Amino acid sequence: MFDWLIVGAGFAGSVLAERIASQRGESVLLIDRRSHIGGNAYDCYNEAGILIHRYGPHIFHTNAQSIVDYLSQFTAWHPYEHRVLAFVDGKLLPIPINLDTINRLYGLELSSAELEEFFASRRETVEKIHTAEDVVVSTVGRELYEKFFRGYTRKQWGVDPSQLSKSVTARVPTRTNRDDRYFGDSFQQMPASGYTRMFERMLDHPNVKIMLQTDYREVRERIPFRRLIYTGPIDEFFDWKLGRLPYRSLRFEHVTLDCEQFQPVAVVNYPQTEAYTRITEYKHLTGQRNVRTSLTYEYPTDIGDPYYPVPRPENEALYKQYEALSANCPGVWFVGRLATYRYYNMDQVVGQALATFARIQKTIPASDRAPQSALAMPV
Ligand code: FAD
Ligand code: UDP
Repeated sequence: MFDWLIVGAGFAGSVLAERIASQRGESVLLIDRRSHIGGNAYDCYNEAGILIHRYGPHIFHTNAQSIVDYLSQFTAWHPYEHRVLAFVDGKLLPIPINLDTINRLYGLELSSAELEEFFASRRETVEKIHTAEDVVVSTVGRELYEKFFRGYTRKQWGVDPSQLSKSVTARVPTRTNRDDRYFGDSFQQMPASGYTRMFERMLDHPNVKIMLQTDYREVRERIPFRRLIYTGPIDEFFDWKLGRLPYRSLRFEHVTLDCEQFQPVAVVNYPQTEAYTRITEYKHLTGQRNVRTSLTYEYPTDIGDPYYPVPRPENEALYKQYEALSANCPGVWFVGRLATYRYYNMDQVVGQALATFARIQKTIPASDRAPQSALAMPV
């Protein structure tokens, strides 16, 4: 009898497995239907010896020092500030849109104050900002929206930005200065030896057993457990009984080239051309040196593993109905991007898992099978 069955070995499941094992001294069976731990953050060395991310580029960034402190028990960090270029009108231009983006796109020499006026003269008045289109046209106007956002968003999500919630494009700021970093967070670093190594250290505890290539459905009747943490898609947990929640997927094309560098930055976005949305070159992220280089092309699709919840009002309404069902499942905790249908970054999932652990601590007395201090993991 395991104290806990945890479904999914991504950030949500692994953080909770680590906390429960080390702080409560309880036994955990952590399963994943994939052949590896780490969920979508999984990285591995390819045939050329280059560290790649199997499920597309994962850049760690956060404003929460508590989350950095927690993860720092399991990894050192490699400083990296993410920069992205967008291929627009035949030029590689900084995205988020900033002063250099506009000056280079239009051959201007505006100052920051002049750029404010430039945006003010182009932005559209939107009574109430609801959609992903509203966010951009009300900030920089329709022409820039069409060049940088409309095509990319239609490719990425399979629907027009006017059909998506504002939270989607609100992830990308607009700047009037020359800051060309993709993220503004106070902490932007990569796990020094990669994500998978960090997960291995997190899960290296005698109370945690891991079973890979194991679907929840295969074991739920066969393996006895007291409590359940579920981090897979919530509609699947309930056998889709209220209908399917849409999740957007990606097809990743991984290639290795016989040259040292392919593009000037880690990620180049293609909002106007190509079937793929972006190309990632990993050596920029990791600082690794190699005579060859590895890239990933991302082709969005509806078919395949669920990667992104699709933020639209009707999907959020359907999720709320599933959430209501989950409230009637005592002893089951739903955590993570798929189980709570939220477009969360890694740090937000870690935060959600730590908050869930705090709730568990408050509501469930720890098992008396082992004293906490005897089992606390040395870090
Ligand atoms: P997941 O990582 O999806 O883990 C869930 C696990 O559950 C999976 O391994 C799955 O196989 C398993 N599972 C599901 N159902 C079952 C079942 N029935 N039985 C057994 N196992 C099951 N975040 C950032 O902060 N920065 C980034 O740069 C970034 N880039 C991203 C790029 C891409 C292309 C994608 C898709 C996401 C990116 N993210 C990024 C988001 C990040 O991947 C997630 O926030 C994080 O991985 C979510 O962790 P999770 O544990 O909730 O889910
Ligand atoms: N986006 C866009 N053009 C870009 C970058 C982003 O239209 O060059 C939009 C697009 O809808 C995307 C969203 O902004 O899905 C959020 O971008 P982000 O880079 O955060 O996406 P993620 O890394 O999560 O795929």
